[in-house]
Amino acid sequence: MQDRNLITLDEALARLVAGAARLRILEAETVSSFEALGRVLAADLHSQIDVPPRDNTAMDGYALRAADVPAAGTRLPVSQRIPAGVVGEPLVPGSAARIFTGGQLPEGADAVVMQEQCEAVPGDGLGEVVVNQVPAAGQWVRRRGEDVLRGHTVLRLGTRLTPQALGMAATVGAETLAVWRRPRVALFSTGDELVLPGQPLPPGAIYNSNRHTLRALLQAAGCEVQDLGIVPDRLDATRAALRQAAEASDLILTSGGVSVGEEDHLKPAVQAEGELQSWQVAMKPGKPLAFGRVGKSLVMGLPGNPVSSYITFLLTVAPVLRTLQGMDATPPRPLLLRADFDWPRPDRRREFMRARLNEQGGLELFPNQSSGVLTSTVWADGLIDNPAGQAVKRGDMVRFLPLDTLVWR
Ligand code: AMP
Ligand code: MG
Repeated sequence: MQDRNLITLDEALARLVAGAARLRILEAETVSSFEALGRVLAADLHSQIDVPPRDNTAMDGYALRAADVPAAGTRLPVSQRIPAGVVGEPLVPGSAARIFTGGQLPEGADAVVMQEQCEAVPGDGLGEVVVNQVPAAGQWVRRRGEDVLRGHTVLRLGTRLTPQALGMAATVGAETLAVWRRPRVALFSTGDELVLPGQPLPPGAIYNSNRHTLRALLQAAGCEVQDLGIVPDRLDATRAALRQAAEASDLILTSGGVSVGEEDHLKPAVQAEGELQSWQVAMKPGKPLAFGRVGKSLVMGLPGNPVSSYITFLLTVAPVLRTLQGMDATPPRPLLLRADFDWPRPDRRREFMRARLNEQGGLELFPNQSSGVLTSTVWADGLIDNPAGQAVKRGDMVRFLPLDTLVWR
């Protein structure tokens, strides 16, 4: 029977993650926090300072002692002026300090009244101010350490350095960060029908789209990519490509040639050069998946159909790359959303459908769910994860995986 090696996606993932965990990257490097986008922290980041470092004002206005303003309309002399970046004098009791957003509160002040609730009265020196509001102690004050306390962990080991994480690193003054070295991935496509964009398209040929998609996905996932181009549909050529790819990579990623046709050489080539586990994964699109090892590299052979290789990457390669970098590889939590479509004839396999959120907050399906139709992947903003054999009726709640959560978390 052809479905002998049929396993569920969860089983496949458990085996992939177990295989990848053995090859976890353990080399850390120090990089500038300014250039660390997408990298993964190799150590907890602790703060050496309080953020903000001192009490400061969240508003333009007047810093004063709340007790000095017992009633609206109290008039106080203005004793100093404190723009952001300037350290003022201790506040003269019974006076107010003109202060601007981010300015450090003078010693003795405990509140800020925003300028819209004050009237400046010109006079000698800085003049006076009429305060038209009775302030509560602490109002408009950003407390020292209210964001981060010195000594606290602000980013944990294994965190992906997103733009906001880089801002966090900078706010505590971290100039450099310890990160895992990037996973090294060698990439090639198989298929005698493939030509590269820029070349003429002879009869029988198609442009190689997987090379672009997979390389970009790898880059987005923080990998260093070695592109080995197109490998002809021959066993010796595939074996030679695998040997070359294994020289300096953590992972060899291929597309095409993983079925059981006479022109599918990936699996026999992996078997000849290393070890192979090949499965039929009960998912649609995507079914055939080759997993193995050549030399010290993992090998993952994705199907050639462009939508299949894209989705299989998101669901199986992304967790492997996370595992290699010591990150949590559990799948992202799906959103439960309303189906605004009917799906009366579900597949026997767990199905990942290209879908999009509409303005009513429901999900719509791309009309053509064929695994060759790349248009569906640029139209969609996520995948519906539909259990095997489950029909969907308009109004049912379904599991939705936003595309951006599948690469970057
Ligand atoms: P295969 O998995 O090699 O049997 O290929 C399955 C289908 O995907 C065939 O229609 C191939 O022409 C197509 N295909 C394979 N590789 C690529 C690629 N790199 N880019 C675009 N289509 C591909
Ligand atoms: Mg092929």
